[in-house]
Amino acid sequence: MLVHETQRSRSELLARVAPPQRAALARETRVGAVYEWRCRRGHDRYPATVAEVLTGPSCAKCRANAVAPAALREAGLAFMKPGLKVGTSRVEQRLRLLLGERIRLHHRVNAVRIARMFYGKQEVWPDILVPQLRIAVEYDDPGRSGRAHRGLKEGSDVEKDDALREVGWEVIRIRAGGLDELGPHSVVCARLTVAAVDEVVALMRRIRGDAALDALAIERQQAV
Ligand SMILES: [Zn+2]
Repeated sequence: MLVHETQRSRSELLARVAPPQRAALARETRVGAVYEWRCRRGHDRYPATVAEVLTGPSCAKCRANAVAPAALREAGLAFMKPGLKVGTSRVEQRLRLLLGERIRLHHRVNAVRIARMFYGKQEVWPDILVPQLRIAVEYDDPGRSGRAHRGLKEGSDVEKDDALREVGWEVIRIRAGGLDELGPHSVVCARLTVAAVDEVVALMRRIRGDAALDALAIERQQAV
């Protein structure tokens, strides 16, 4: 894979590379090329490939901190990250609405603490969290460009799911607009529909069992 195929911007790379290497990186095409980077948390500069920096395992010190006992105590905890702008697209709002008609959603959490570094942070921000079930729901489609959730983004989606699974969460991915299955729990559909959301809830039931789902289920009037 080449840098321009990752669907990530060169400016985010240029902002993080060690300044003497900026000019070389501006012309770089290979994701496997090694550069010196500045840690976002102010640790020492560290060598890593372009691909590694885009998926964000961070410097050695950050990685060690992520698995330190104090950090692991919080691993898997869902929390409210103030000022986070995710889940604000129209389709994500509709997903939240449709899910909220079926199960009780917790509106005060938007992030989960993980036990590794991901994009320079020890947390992930899935579209929808159901902390009672430890299940995250993600909505993916190729977007207007036709390229979102492809390229390196697909690799980072998989890595995000791994990070969640590692701390006891499962991820259900709604894969719309021609995207293939990704991970063990995918709902493939042309677009977000009521049937797709029902399938998500059925998957939750399969993953966590009837008792857990019944405890969250909202009784609904059957439409005539
Ligand atoms: Zn660091």
